[in-house]
Amino acid sequence: MHRAVQVSCPLTKRKKDIIKKLLIEYRKTAKAIASYQWFLFFTQGSFNRKANIKHLRSNLSERYKYTIQYHVVVPVLDSFISNLKNRFSEIVKNSNLLEKTKRVLLYLNKNNEWLINKSEKAIYVDYKNRTVFEYDITEEERLLAKKIFKHILKGWRKPKFNKVSLLLDSKTALIEEPKKSKHFDRWIRLSTLDKGKPIYLPVKLHNYFEKRRGKATQLLQIGEDGTLRIVKEIEPKQLAGEEVIALDFGLKNFLTSSKGDMFGRKLYEKVREYAEKIDKLQRNLQRQGIKPTESKRFLRLTERLSAFIKNEVRRIINRIVQLYAPRVIVIENLKSLYKKFLSDYPKEVKRAIVRYGYGELKKKLQEIREEYGIEVIQVNPAYSSQTCSSCGYVDRENRKTQEKFECRLCGRKLHADVNASRNLPDRVRWGMHLRCVKQALVMQVKEFLKNLHGERYKCLRSKARGLLSENPYFRGFSGTALNPMHR
Ligand SMILES: [Zn+2]
Repeated sequence: MHRAVQVSCPLTKRKKDIIKKLLIEYRKTAKAIASYQWFLFFTQGSFNRKANIKHLRSNLSERYKYTIQYHVVVPVLDSFISNLKNRFSEIVKNSNLLEKTKRVLLYLNKNNEWLINKSEKAIYVDYKNRTVFEYDITEEERLLAKKIFKHILKGWRKPKFNKVSLLLDSKTALIEEPKKSKHFDRWIRLSTLDKGKPIYLPVKLHNYFEKRRGKATQLLQIGEDGTLRIVKEIEPKQLAGEEVIALDFGLKNFLTSSKGDMFGRKLYEKVREYAEKIDKLQRNLQRQGIKPTESKRFLRLTERLSAFIKNEVRRIINRIVQLYAPRVIVIENLKSLYKKFLSDYPKEVKRAIVRYGYGELKKKLQEIREEYGIEVIQVNPAYSSQTCSSCGYVDRENRKTQEKFECRLCGRKLHADVNASRNLPDRVRWGMHLRCVKQALVMQVKEFLKNLHGERYKCLRSKARGLLSENPYFRGFSGTALNPMHR
């Protein structure tokens, strides 16, 4: 697993300009390679990291082209397809297809045989009963696999490569030890658009670079603004857990887990204290005609506030990792953190959390992904606070107060945030995590109605009939709901 660590690299305007021009050509070339790789995918069934791309025209050298193909384009496309693959298998598993068809489709999916036929037979291993099945693959099944695949592909935006940074290896950017001058720790010999005219970038490593776990590689990354990162190779630490943990942002506690634990109880209180202090000071300064940025006290206070929030965010996520050792973290999307704040907190608190907490949380989640291999999935939380995590009934009246949840149907009572977080993994299971708000409700309603016909819900049915007839969420669905016999 890789992690890019920023190092300092002071550049002159001339070098910056050269890098900018290089980046423009780099992105153009990446796009051209990507479109060729899609051609390979549709005709041969897979991308190829080592494909011959001599025929693709670019102002960059062949070495550059291969670096882009090998390190940037194909890995990104592969990971795109692997997400698509997960979605495919979700759809099949949650479908009403015959068990045999499901197994064949899962096999075709696993072997990337959506478009190109390779296998004669599909093999399915039933681990529970230690049995291996072998099935003939029918023409209909192949067509179905193709259809599902294309359907997902159509709905997703393909990676565009118009924002990638320069990712370079020793073929295009050689990291060298300084020969004479010890003023810098490394020099990077960067090939440019001008053949035979490399530029040299000075690098200073700092403590932070040395401290970050991992071994430095020959790979480096240069951003649009000239920031330079050297890539370190890290072995993910093994976590024992197999669990899926869901996290919900709260108004009282920063995060609440599906296990019922609350994290960051004092965060908002503390932020509010700081924000009030800063606000007061700012007003005083204004009266005296002093700009806040000219006041040492003001700068110190905002600095402390920012450090406090960032530390808290890191501490909380570390604690969660330690406590549950999860394999997957399902978390409300960060946008909803913003939305929740918009409605309920004074704007100073909101601003501080968004300004300092948002980025830090994003960074920290990325870090645990790299460091421990924990999968982090963001979910649209729409209606999760109104849905009963026990019976699935969704009703605006289910949430009694900010903190209390009480299901009108099954009577289940629990903390509103805990309840909301428990609904998040379902969204992932349904593949709804990236969808819009309305679809989340429709799915929630449909799923509930489906369950209602099951044995487990028998004793709730007559009560449900009464509730559903008045519940606007179920309007348009009520025919099936009220008469489960006439499905
Ligand atoms: Zn319920």
